[in-house]
Amino acid sequence: MHREVEIGRTVLGRPIMAIHFEPPSYARPRPPAVLFGAIHGDEPLGAHCLARLCEDLLERPPGRDTWIIPALNPDGLAAGTKNNANDIDLDRNFAASNWVPEHRPGYRPGAAAESEPETQALSALIKRIGARRFVAVHSPYRLLAWEGRGRALAEAMAEHNGYEVKADRGYPTPGSFNSKYGRDGNLEVVTLEIPFLEEDEAWAQNRAGLRYAVDLPT
Ligand SMILES: [Zn+2]
Repeated sequence: MHREVEIGRTVLGRPIMAIHFEPPSYARPRPPAVLFGAIHGDEPLGAHCLARLCEDLLERPPGRDTWIIPALNPDGLAAGTKNNANDIDLDRNFAASNWVPEHRPGYRPGAAAESEPETQALSALIKRIGARRFVAVHSPYRLLAWEGRGRALAEAMAEHNGYEVKADRGYPTPGSFNSKYGRDGNLEVVTLEIPFLEEDEAWAQNRAGLRYAVDLPT
């Protein structure tokens, strides 16, 4: 069973769509997983790979309750810009304890934590469904970075794609998704960074690992 759910609207009024897959009825209930891409609009490979994952899940459902958001920032994706239409870096806009009102040029965190409708939409969904596992898909590094309880998942995914595993992303990320749900929330958070590849190659490298993230018994 799957259904498309509009979880919110962007600054420019575009719908932010999630595809919700329910596991087969015989599967043991597990807390939902959320996988999202293109929080940065200039990183379209995440949106591509998650759209391909949805096609895959239509043929064979996941082993756990799964929500896929191919593009959290569809305004940025359409414009080819990293930030949203208010020129805010959504991955610095989350209400983490380390959120700061000023950050480096190009990483504007917003007037207040979770000031942006895209950030609000994702946070509201996570709260509503009680998600505990997260994969955020970015580019262009070749990396699996984990926060909170995400280490085992990152290492398992690395067995499939051969990417480097790190305990954090290697630079300060105040107000990031990882800070709120990994550092503060101590949930299972993995950032998958896909290098700039042809779409088919990116999917071929990451299909098994993304499948693993939604099939793993825990
Ligand atoms: Zn990114």
